[in-house]
Amino acid sequence: MKLETFTFNLELKNTFTISYGSRDFQPTLIVALTQGDFTGYGEAAATSYYGVTVENMIAALKKVEPLVQKNIDSTPEELWELTSPHLKENPFAQCALDIAMHDLHGKRNGLPLYKMWGLTLDKIPLTNYTIGIDTVEKMIQKISEFPWPLYKIKLGTNEDVKIVKELRKHTNAVFRVDANAAWTAEQAIENANQLKDLNVEFIEQPLAVNDIEGMKLLYKNSVLPLIADESCIVESDVKKCAAYYHGVNIKLTKCGGLTPGKRMVEEARRLGLKVMVGCMTESTVGVSAIAQLLPLLDYVDMDGPLLLKSDIADGVKIYDEKVHFPDRNGTGAQLYKEHSI
Ligand SMILES: [Mg+2]
Repeated sequence: MKLETFTFNLELKNTFTISYGSRDFQPTLIVALTQGDFTGYGEAAATSYYGVTVENMIAALKKVEPLVQKNIDSTPEELWELTSPHLKENPFAQCALDIAMHDLHGKRNGLPLYKMWGLTLDKIPLTNYTIGIDTVEKMIQKISEFPWPLYKIKLGTNEDVKIVKELRKHTNAVFRVDANAAWTAEQAIENANQLKDLNVEFIEQPLAVNDIEGMKLLYKNSVLPLIADESCIVESDVKKCAAYYHGVNIKLTKCGGLTPGKRMVEEARRLGLKVMVGCMTESTVGVSAIAQLLPLLDYVDMDGPLLLKSDIADGVKIYDEKVHFPDRNGTGAQLYKEHSI
């Protein structure tokens, strides 16, 4: 067994701005887990506002390497339970390891992951394409450069409704909006009224995570569905969100990988919530893992590779308004030759 880590600094097509800040590069960690002839790949994108760097992910994985070595024949779920007490502080590192283990497990069983889970690809949602905060002119330009039926518009400015009104003049696509916790309940109620008329499908994370009173008020009065993102990080959050959200956006990196992510999807479904899985600007390695869950989802945000100047891996690809699965086992991800180990 070999556990290797590789660091990439993914260059973005456009400067990406959300209400927390801007970036041109996305540092990311690739984990490669080799057993015999098979190598499984996993990924987690470093995210500064969660205090996660590639360095602290590598350090966290070093600590569990002997445990992984000893238990490489176990299932991904068993390995997750064994390593989880040691990786509690760094769910991103756990995510990269868990995805690599799932990929390896699919490969040694000779099946794509979704098939191992008994799923079929008959009915799967299409990803949205994210438009970051920018001048209205630049946002319009990004839409015209990438014609798509479904956009997620990042908001959290002083003129959010005005932005959406302007964008609406240039496309009939469905819009979703993500306020990244920038609104008050009163603003959100008013914005929802206007955004509904602009063919907005739902609002993601309108209020700050700790604004529970605001969420109760908004939940009662919003004319648009509300989807939790920053409010739904780990497994125990799903139940809490059911009280004042219509759905949850689950991120594999934040919860610690496919093992808890799949359980969260199933719990959200049991609670009658809409279910979405989101990405953090991962390459095709991370997104190919998210794609395995598609048959279980209502919505998906897995446009990470579409936002990159150049991708590092083949795998599940998105083009022609469709998701294309490769004829490979595990997650289907495979580093491009120039990056191969
Ligand atoms: Mg979000």
